[in-house]
Amino acid sequence: MSETKITYDDFNPHAFETLDVTDETKGAREVIKWAYDVYGDSIIYSCSFGAEGMILIDLISSVKKDAEIVFLDTNLHFQETYDLIDRVKARYPELNIKLKQPSLTLEEQADQVAPALWKQDPNQCCYIRKIKPLEEVLSGATAWVSGLRREQSPSRQATNFINKDERFKSVKVCPLIHWTWDDVWAYIKAHDLHYNELHDFNFPSIGCIPCTEAVSGNGDSRAGRWTNSTKTECGLHTTNKP
Ligand code: SF4
Repeated sequence: MSETKITYDDFNPHAFETLDVTDETKGAREVIKWAYDVYGDSIIYSCSFGAEGMILIDLISSVKKDAEIVFLDTNLHFQETYDLIDRVKARYPELNIKLKQPSLTLEEQADQVAPALWKQDPNQCCYIRKIKPLEEVLSGATAWVSGLRREQSPSRQATNFINKDERFKSVKVCPLIHWTWDDVWAYIKAHDLHYNELHDFNFPSIGCIPCTEAVSGNGDSRAGRWTNSTKTECGLHTTNKP
């Protein structure tokens, strides 16, 4: 693979078109190795600690033990998610796992914007509690890693290993684009990885408490998020500002 550093301003959309994706990680290991070799300390993994995140953390730690991992802590996550973060920290003690806080506490958001903003305007709530914090995190980086998979939703089907990220003016590295939901769970089981206990209670996708519900097993790995609205993405992976 090329040793050339791909940047937002010097982006090569064809860099990974010939990558062999028939290995056991469907190209993920090679992409991660390339990314950490090329970007070094200038790449950050923004991890939601979902099922895909457990795989990426396992693979990333094998190529850069002290990699920087950032969790966007909206202050609205399930206790099971915070417990999982503690378990992952114990398993990979050298990883640099940080919890990034929004500029407004929940109380300040209720006072200054609106109470229970997630009900009135979930896009604005996601902007304050996720997008703005990630903007701050990525301001000092050249590239970031995401666990997007093509099969997750129609809007993610065009995702490539390396993407020009117009939203954050960055390069977004997505090693798991070819993985299926079954692949994800096969790897977790085969490597005895930790995972969020809520997955065992019909939560395929786990975000903030107000915007996440258990589902009745329809096989959609994004089901259960923002079920009472047309919203399907928090905005981290779309180009439009809310
Ligand atoms: S997922 Fe819901 S609660 Fe979390 S930041 Fe977005 S709107 Fe707010």
